[in-house]
Amino acid sequence: MVVCNLNCASCPLAYACIPITIAGVIALRKYRGRLQKKRLASQMTFLFITNTAFLFGATGLIYSYFYCWESPFALMACPIGVLEHAFVDKAWYLLIYLAGSIGFTSIIFGRAACGWACPIGFLQDLTSKRKTKSEWDKKLRILKYIILAAIPPASYVTGQLAYTLICPIGGLTATLPHLLMNPHGYTFTFFFFPKMMVLVGFFILIVLLSRGWCRHLCPVGAMMAPFNKISLLQLEYYEDKCLKCFKCADVCPMQINMPYDTKTAECIRCGKCVDVCPTDALAFKFQWQ
Ligand code: SF4
Ligand code: SF4
Repeated sequence: MVVCNLNCASCPLAYACIPITIAGVIALRKYRGRLQKKRLASQMTFLFITNTAFLFGATGLIYSYFYCWESPFALMACPIGVLEHAFVDKAWYLLIYLAGSIGFTSIIFGRAACGWACPIGFLQDLTSKRKTKSEWDKKLRILKYIILAAIPPASYVTGQLAYTLICPIGGLTATLPHLLMNPHGYTFTFFFFPKMMVLVGFFILIVLLSRGWCRHLCPVGAMMAPFNKISLLQLEYYEDKCLKCFKCADVCPMQINMPYDTKTAECIRCGKCVDVCPTDALAFKFQWQ
């Protein structure tokens, strides 16, 4: 039986309960619409699974998942960590796991994991509403593909987990929990402060820009994005029903040119446009439907 000793910083259950409770309370006020309620349930479920996976024991499988695999108790691996280890350890078989898991989910759902499962996506849904339609914003979206393309050569040449060293998500989900749980035994590396600076930049970005991390910098999103064009799940537009009110464009957190650009790689399948459309001119459909 688990006995609470009121020492949250050293308690793995606290790392599960505290973010889930905070997220739930904030989210209840923000999510409106039929699909948004389902999306909240999905994001809460994935947040719970992510934070409590250590309770269920190791399986020995590689999971492509969204938390840094250096997190305390993490049994699942961030896809970028898998990619880096493949090139650092020259363990090429890891690329098969990676292509299989990302390819399998993305060919079915496209980039829906960003909108429905990723805890960092969930965090961004809670932090900002601010949108921008500048040309710079559109051009900067290419950064996430450049980062993704740079990770394999950087890892191979340096022999280090080159991206993880400064990854803000790793900083949030691995470095800081490690430090909190073991403040006296923690070993500070050269990259600790640069990583914390990047983490501060991450928080500024996601407060200032809606889905700023997903839009511009996330290399995991960049892996899944191209599948939007061919995935089984598609966002359909029925022009004959459309009033051209552009409520869909207003509500889109990724600032997509809606209702015309439904196949874009930027869509995270959040369904906000579907919920807000007054005439059902937008709908999610699997290609066989
Ligand atoms: S919200 Fe619906 S009706 Fe309005 S522009 Fe978008 S698709 Fe058309
Ligand atoms: S186009 Fe619709 S489903 Fe895609 S990100 Fe924008 S609001 Fe979400």
